[in-house]
Amino acid sequence: MSTAYRDFHLQPIAGEWREGGSERRAEVTNPFDGSALLDIRLADRSDLDAAFLAAEKAQAEWAATPPSERSALLQRVVEIFDARKEEIIDWLIRESGSTRLKANVEWGAARGITQEAASMPGRVHGMTLASNVPGKENRVYRKPLGVVGVISPWNFPLHLSQRSIAPALALGNAVVVKPASDTPVTGGLLLAKIFEEAGLPEGLLSVVVGAGSEIGDAFVEHRVPRMVSFTGSTPVGRRIGGICSGGEHIKKVALELGGNSPFVVLDDADLDQAVNAAAMGKFLHQGQICMAINRIIVDERRYDDFVARFVEKVKGLRVGDPNEMETVVGPIINAKQREGLEAKIATARQEGATVLLEGEIDGQLVPPHVFGDVTPEMEISREEIFGPLVGIQKARDEAHALTLANASEYGLSSAVFTADLARGARFAQGIKAGMTHVNDMPVNDEAHVPFGGEKNSGLGRFNGDWAIEEFTTDQWISVQHAPRAYPF
Ligand code: NAD
Repeated sequence: MSTAYRDFHLQPIAGEWREGGSERRAEVTNPFDGSALLDIRLADRSDLDAAFLAAEKAQAEWAATPPSERSALLQRVVEIFDARKEEIIDWLIRESGSTRLKANVEWGAARGITQEAASMPGRVHGMTLASNVPGKENRVYRKPLGVVGVISPWNFPLHLSQRSIAPALALGNAVVVKPASDTPVTGGLLLAKIFEEAGLPEGLLSVVVGAGSEIGDAFVEHRVPRMVSFTGSTPVGRRIGGICSGGEHIKKVALELGGNSPFVVLDDADLDQAVNAAAMGKFLHQGQICMAINRIIVDERRYDDFVARFVEKVKGLRVGDPNEMETVVGPIINAKQREGLEAKIATARQEGATVLLEGEIDGQLVPPHVFGDVTPEMEISREEIFGPLVGIQKARDEAHALTLANASEYGLSSAVFTADLARGARFAQGIKAGMTHVNDMPVNDEAHVPFGGEKNSGLGRFNGDWAIEEFTTDQWISVQHAPRAYPF
């Protein structure tokens, strides 16, 4: 039995676990009871520089290692995920306020993408193409990008960092991660310990824990990273995308941003299944998921029935200590997010939504709130909620339901319930989103299937072959076998 990892006040920077160089410190607390987990001295710009330079130095040799060696390393990471499952889950519960169920789901997703990444080194291939020039052969080589900068959010920190780190490293890149300041351990430091235990060579993976305001821009603007893989909110994503495409150093950017998932119930839907899917797709992790249901849209012929059954189901969800097995709705990550949700509840009332279910807010625990007679103009429909609140809208018919579903600046995930699968698939094709699920909730992620958004939900796709595409680049090398005849 291995001993639990410790010393998370130190950060793995340029091959050495050390304190950050900033004057600023951050206290990491348990969102449920406010207890202190960690006091950490933050990284500054010189740490960032050291991390990127070490990554650049280590990357060339790593890219030249045989694919089987890189695969084996990722496979060892999977084994450590298994051996340390309880330790990882315990951190997810304490640091990010995950319920046991959500922590298990997240552990499984992060393990799954690592397993998928272990197969990637052997799947990378180039191609040859015919040439219009006599005697020439065109080859396309697929190569790692170099150094990848990863910025991740606090809601699924382990998985959302690992879904970039694991493929990027597997494909021969080096990585520097900046986790969210609420979740430095599960968003980076814990993963660095795991990769170190698995034998990853020094300098290939650094973690810099720092304030967005102090090192955020410098991280993105730095000369070394050839790509920034960002998962977070749309406003911050916009800024990062702007720097990457308009700054001094042009670089590739992957943006996985906010969502506003519609959950559509058509007139022929199986309501029991729809209600169960809606409850899970809305309240898993207190609704703090980019794919979480943001709007429920129900055909008016089934509206009353759906509302009655949904409210009944949601009333029974247990709110409380995320460590307890039966808890479904745990704490909101921090006071700022909770205050934002309180404001959204107040606005929904002011705007005339009918309160179908409410409850008293206790510390960071926000019980489920359900609103009826919601219109597309209300804030609760227009904005990403990111919490355990939901509004239900009425649709006149299928065409109206589709119009309502598409009435959003976002286009990440979505779902539709119908007894007619052909109708469901047709409806799904009309939704402007990166992901649509027929007869399921919008919260889905499989390590080999493309994940990503349309519209203001982002750019690029994660997982499987799509991650290979994201974390590599093509080089056209032509070989002139016979002397070319030039016109002058
Ligand atoms: P956020 O945008 O506030 O922060 C995300 C990360 O960016 C954090 O690590 C933060 O420290 C960093 N950051 C903030 N300002 C920065 C700057 N100027 N430069 C560089 N980095 C900076 O998002 P959040 O509140 O942590 O997460 C919630 C948001 O993330 C929601 O909008 C949610 O929908 C989105 N999200 C999207 C996906 C997806 O896959 N599409 C997944 C999870 C969360």
